[in-house]
Amino acid sequence: MTGVIPYGRQDISEADIQTVVDVLRSDFLTQGPAVPSFEKSVADYCSAQHAVAVNSATSALHIACLALEIGPNDVVWTTPVTFVASANCALYCEATVDFIDIDPLTYNMSMPNLAEKLLQAEQAGKLPKVVIPVHLCGQSCDMASLYALGQKYGFKIIEDASHAIGGKYRGKPIGNCCYSDITVFSFHPVKIITTGEGGMAITNDAGLAKKMELLRCHGITSDAADMHARPPEEIWNYQQIELGFNYRMTDIQAALGLSQMQRLDVFISKRHDIARRYDEMLDDLPVMKPWQHADSYSSFHLYPVRLKLAEIKKTHRQVYEEIRAQGILVNLHYIPVYLQPYYEKMGFREGYCPEAERYYSEAISIPMYPTMSETQQDQVVEAMRKAAC
Ligand SMILES: *Cc1c(COP(=O)(O)O)cnc(C)c1O
Repeated sequence: MTGVIPYGRQDISEADIQTVVDVLRSDFLTQGPAVPSFEKSVADYCSAQHAVAVNSATSALHIACLALEIGPNDVVWTTPVTFVASANCALYCEATVDFIDIDPLTYNMSMPNLAEKLLQAEQAGKLPKVVIPVHLCGQSCDMASLYALGQKYGFKIIEDASHAIGGKYRGKPIGNCCYSDITVFSFHPVKIITTGEGGMAITNDAGLAKKMELLRCHGITSDAADMHARPPEEIWNYQQIELGFNYRMTDIQAALGLSQMQRLDVFISKRHDIARRYDEMLDDLPVMKPWQHADSYSSFHLYPVRLKLAEIKKTHRQVYEEIRAQGILVNLHYIPVYLQPYYEKMGFREGYCPEAERYYSEAISIPMYPTMSETQQDQVVEAMRKAAC
């Protein structure tokens, strides 16, 4: 990979490797002690009560929706500027999905747009049961406003914080679930900390945690109190009482996650250093830098710039290709979900969320990861200068 700079990548230390090796030599590769230790570590970090580790954030979103009893007659709203998993989780439950346009500064779900759409939905008698905000790039949504709307209209909230572990909102850790029912994290290698693949659902509600634990493991319980009445000779060590899945995280993954947690704050501060340096170096390029709200301490999972296309005599696509041709593997986060062919089949069309589409027409995520060197950062900016000027 010499010369090629990805948009994101993991940071694995010798200590991380050693903890994984230790698990490989231990009695449990899965369903052992590392999973609850990792869960406790993340819950404590977030000042939350319960954590349920699973094999991806996608799985966490699915069981979060099921725990909140999303089903075929329900409506779920999310933002169009996100990874498809934020919306797909509702479709897994056979619910209907709709999208709220974004805020022009943070690119997160716009609260004025949400308020307006709730008013219309109330009149039409089709209010959402769950709203899924996404903390894009690691910058928190306006959770206080969202929570207030949830109280007024009676919807539940799942925070898709796949980008955002280590970030803060109003000085408190994202994931504390003060303004939501459940928060979901992703541990894919491009995210803030990694377990290879992995995710976690955080909640302060013991009932929701218990439901999600059941759903993660086939809907099977070994807790006698939860078992259905049977003659004593027919009660064995387990019963299936729900339809669940095998969404378990392995101990190999959890040990890696636990080890990564020790460096989470270091990862975030390195990302802030890189962001600050980009902010300075990009000053004289025809791009808009990511804006930060005063309530937010971002985890800086991503650093998306918006091209000032009126000042550049090239298309968005040309600039993107010319940067990539120089070995800088920039990316686009995201194509509005409803413009994906699968969603267009449901009747969504171009023009549905104009602010999201404006963002999509100009955005490029440039490389951002904690092991990135200043030389690499210089190369990124040089490549951008060549492509955009
Ligand atoms: C990465 C991501 C997911 C899915 O995470 P996995 O762990 O890969 O399933 C969901 N939502 C958002 C916003 C993401 O960025």
